[in-house]
Amino acid sequence: MTTHGTKPIDKQLQAHERAKLFCVVGIPTLLTFGVGALRTGNWVLVGLVMANAVIVSGCYLALVRGQTHFWAIRISVAAFAVLATYLVALSGEEHSFALWFFAFPVVAVMLLPPREGVVWAALCLAVATGVMILGGPETGTSTYSMAFGIRFVIVNILLTTCIYWFEITLHRYQEETSAQKSLIEAESARLRTEIARRTSLEGELRVLASIDPLTSLLNRRAFLERFSHELARSQRHGPDLTLLMLDLDHFKKINDQHGHPAGDLVLVHFAQSLRRCLRNVDIIGRIGGEEFAVVLVDTSPEMAQPVIDRLLEQTRGTPAILADGTVVHYTVSIGSTEVLRGDTMETAIQRADDGLYAAKNMGRDRHCQR
Ligand code: GH3
Ligand code: MG
Ligand code: MG
Repeated sequence: MTTHGTKPIDKQLQAHERAKLFCVVGIPTLLTFGVGALRTGNWVLVGLVMANAVIVSGCYLALVRGQTHFWAIRISVAAFAVLATYLVALSGEEHSFALWFFAFPVVAVMLLPPREGVVWAALCLAVATGVMILGGPETGTSTYSMAFGIRFVIVNILLTTCIYWFEITLHRYQEETSAQKSLIEAESARLRTEIARRTSLEGELRVLASIDPLTSLLNRRAFLERFSHELARSQRHGPDLTLLMLDLDHFKKINDQHGHPAGDLVLVHFAQSLRRCLRNVDIIGRIGGEEFAVVLVDTSPEMAQPVIDRLLEQTRGTPAILADGTVVHYTVSIGSTEVLRGDTMETAIQRADDGLYAAKNMGRDRHCQR
């Protein structure tokens, strides 16, 4: 089987389709022909026609079932070659049977690989021409005039050339289309991969854009977004929310005494304390340098109090330890407020900030509610 760059499976399907078409047209034609031969009592022709019909049907079934492919077609073409040559040899009055020979190059070139089809057509034409030249009353075959023979050969050659040219053009077109199809498929696969890569990158960027790189808590923007969402939910369905604003005390001094990297380490240490003391549902954000904010979800001020006390105690009692073993004690001041019906984010934040300001003014390391 030749592939010529086209997928073999496509060619096989195409050969099946063509074989089916030739069977649909050919078998009824053969049967009609057979009935005609039966009427005139030409038993050799009846036999040849029937044999052709059986061989063509059998080969078609073999072709459809499987692997034999061109061998099935070759057997049918050979059977048809015998029939076509017989029709030339015994062409009836006015050589009308001989004209059926023109169907042979069509079948051979269109069903077999075109070059092989041309070889079959040429061989069969050579035999038929031989029969025409050598035949006559003494051999019991039809007699042909020179003019008929020449026209017969020329028309056959023209017909074979036209079909061959048509087939080659069709093959080239199919090869080009198939190459373009492969290119388009490769390009669309590349685009799909690129889209998937970008979608995942976009997801990663969205996460990165909402996370504070130092503490891995929510950054200011993401915190406010989550708070706004929680506030809307609380206004609709009424669960309590408590908002905390937290600010590390005298942080500037920590930086001054131990250096900026040590300050960073204290910020990370405090973020870990927050995570440990609070629940997963609570919203924790770093909203400024050493400023943090927390939304305690479904939490009334009474329920928030022990959480805040624990936070103050843990910060006070768990110092950060630097890489060189230096122990850095630090504290935090907290302002809190209950989020009320009718509050906006700004009004709630303002009250919690007022609480924080008061806690700072009262000496730090403490909590004030507003
Ligand atoms: P107060 O108790 O009144 O809050 O005093 P404070 O020193 O904490 O407050 P102040 O606003 O005067 O100083 C905050 C300091 O926090 C100043 C700034 O250099 C430091 N800071 C802000 N962001 C960072 C950071 O990302 N890393 C470090 N190491 N320091 C930071
Ligand atoms: Mg501070
Ligand atoms: Mg501050």
